[in-house]
Amino acid sequence: MHNLLKRQLKKNGLSLDTFPNATNWRHLLDSINKSYEQADQDRYVLERSLSLSSTEMQELNQRLKETYKTRESAILNAFPDLLFLIDEEGTYMEVLAGNKEKLHKPETEIIGKKIRDILPAVQANLIMDAIQQAITTGKMQVIEYELDVPSGRVHFEGRAVTIGKISNGQYGILFFSRDITDKVQSEYQQKLLDSVLTSTTDGIVIISGSHQVLYANEAVTRITGYSVEDLINEGKGFLRHEKDSELCKDIFKQANQTDHLQQEVIIHNKNDGISNILLSMDTKRNEQGQTEYIVGILTDISEIKSSQVRYEHLATHDVLTGLPNRYLLEERMRQSISKAEREGLSGAIFFLDLDRFKTINDSLGHGVGDRLLHQVASRLMRVCRIEDTVARFGGDEFVILVDDIESQEQAFQIAEKILHVFDKKYHVQGYELNVSTSIGISIFPTHGTDVEQLTKHADIAMYAAKSLGRNRYQLFANEYLESAITGLTLEHEMLNALVKEEFLLMYQPQYATKSRALTGFEALIRWQHPEHGMIPPSDFIPVAESTGQIEQIGLWVFEEICKKVVEWNEKGYLFNRVSFNLSQRQLMDGTLSDQLIRVMEKTGAIDFTHQIECEITESLIIKQTDIALETINNLKKAGILLAIDDFGTGHSSLVNLKRFPLDRLKIDREFVRDIGRDKNDEAIIRATIALAQGFDLDVIAEGVEEESQMKFLQEVGCQEVQGYLLNRPLSLEQCELLLQDQMLATKEVVFK
Ligand code: C2E
Ligand code: CA
Ligand code: CA
Repeated sequence: MHNLLKRQLKKNGLSLDTFPNATNWRHLLDSINKSYEQADQDRYVLERSLSLSSTEMQELNQRLKETYKTRESAILNAFPDLLFLIDEEGTYMEVLAGNKEKLHKPETEIIGKKIRDILPAVQANLIMDAIQQAITTGKMQVIEYELDVPSGRVHFEGRAVTIGKISNGQYGILFFSRDITDKVQSEYQQKLLDSVLTSTTDGIVIISGSHQVLYANEAVTRITGYSVEDLINEGKGFLRHEKDSELCKDIFKQANQTDHLQQEVIIHNKNDGISNILLSMDTKRNEQGQTEYIVGILTDISEIKSSQVRYEHLATHDVLTGLPNRYLLEERMRQSISKAEREGLSGAIFFLDLDRFKTINDSLGHGVGDRLLHQVASRLMRVCRIEDTVARFGGDEFVILVDDIESQEQAFQIAEKILHVFDKKYHVQGYELNVSTSIGISIFPTHGTDVEQLTKHADIAMYAAKSLGRNRYQLFANEYLESAITGLTLEHEMLNALVKEEFLLMYQPQYATKSRALTGFEALIRWQHPEHGMIPPSDFIPVAESTGQIEQIGLWVFEEICKKVVEWNEKGYLFNRVSFNLSQRQLMDGTLSDQLIRVMEKTGAIDFTHQIECEITESLIIKQTDIALETINNLKKAGILLAIDDFGTGHSSLVNLKRFPLDRLKIDREFVRDIGRDKNDEAIIRATIALAQGFDLDVIAEGVEEESQMKFLQEVGCQEVQGYLLNRPLSLEQCELLLQDQMLATKEVVFK
């Protein structure tokens, strides 16, 4: 019996052996009926649910399939690489995914075509090789190639993988090509950056906000001596200086405060001492303004620094004596003057000029002169205090600047001390030399409050000392300014003019009156002054005369013309003579003739003495002395020609003229000027020419400016003329042209 039925019987108090009453029986049947109904219900539910799930399953399945498809195409669409299905012969079967704009040709044009027909040979070969390899090895192959696509050139990375046989029976290959242009470019840029960073001579460090070294290039190692590892471990410690342990802190503090910092620092190089560094720091901040990192550039400027120091020394010191030069002196003077002004003090300038130094230099040579200056410099240094400035001003001039002078007397005491420096003889290259100096003193602020004024006044005072007899000192006084300022200044400047080669000679041609052929030249000196321009001889010869400088200048003139006479002869130029002017002072110098002869021997002009003419003014001849006469005779003996300059102005007597071995008379331009206007002057000219003929002298007229004067002079028998009408004093170049013309003209005459 079914357990359920057993349970129903038991529930209704029945058993198999008992017969039920009507009530029990009904109850039993009710419960059995209920069970049937329940079973029906259950089966229905079950059947129902089963039928339901199968349709739903179908729907679900359908839905799943769709989701999968969308996902697949979403994935493929989002796929960054172009994905091709290619068969083993290289036929494009399908473009499965990727950005189609990166196709070499439109999709429609490539499907069904072979790679070799679509791509350029190089790329096609490369890809076909990879496909073959992928098939034979079964492994993925990776290649890189560049290809032009409509948007430009693209760098691709290609990957080939086999997927076994496909529908056409061939092996199928999935070929992925990925645009890696950006990556390649950034790699290239990185490489460039790396090579710049390693090859640059500047040290580059990147330091974190907490001052840790994040990066350092090799140059940093070279500059600091620390290896890159050291730097990274040591942190900021590479910026080190023995004497300045705070250096680093300070710099980083400043870098934190400003965005850009540039500073010269001296750092301690781990290996070899000190390096001079130009440090530039750029601080990069985040949005909150905190330091993110600092880029530091270290430029080693040690070399520049040391050459700068050398250069500065050279620029501010005199090479010969090692003393401060004029520029440094002037700088110190400016400082002293303003300090004196601020503190109400006085100071003094001592302007020294060695007496007759030129003579030593010229007679014993520059070597001796230089050594002497050197010794003078050391003695001056010894006698001065360390805080005084002893400077070489130029040539044989020294200037001493002394601060803090309490009185004139104190300045005089110092001047005395300086004079005593010269008491003892100097020993130079076996020579015992007696040297003295003249000192001019100016006191500031009394005699001036600027460098120029004070120097000028000390200089003028020095000239006063010289004119008062040398070997002494003189304080500046205003009357020096009024008396002979131009003379004094010129005189002073003239001392250097020869050395600086500021003198030059012009040559005024002389001509035969009748033929107007060139006969000779008169050499006329000029002073090309750096500030005043061309100074005529009338402005400086008298000064040179009074100071004796004419001796040196005259000697220079003579040597110049001697050289020209020799040179022009060598060049074959034709000329009768070159004349030069002698001044009184020269003539009074007993050694003049010897000196001139020596110059002629030195230059070779001794062979051409008949082409050298000396002009002496008539007024000089009248004042002649025995010395002058002897000089003239000596020159005459050597073969030099002698002319009387400015003739007519001195009214010399016949007797006087007879005493001199003359060759020519030069009629003064005063007489020539008045030809045609002043009968008296014309008469004098006539008489002069007659006189000259009587003495067998040639005559030349100077200052000829008009044709009428020429005509007259020709009529009265004046052989030669010189004057603006025919030519002004010429430069050497102009003379040469004239001489060349003359030479050609003469040749033509000869060959005709
Ligand atoms: P000087 O010896 O009587 O020289 C002739 C002067 O007359 C020159 O002046 C010359 O330029 C000028 N002169 C020439 N032709 C004419 C003309 O047609 N008209 C006018 N108005 N002037 C003319 P410069 O060159 O100025 O020389 C002036 C003086 O300076 C010379 O007079 C001479 O006494 C002196 N001098 C020139 N050079 C030297 C030199 O080397 N040594 C010496 N000791 N004295 C010199
Ligand atoms: Ca003359
Ligand atoms: Ca003259």
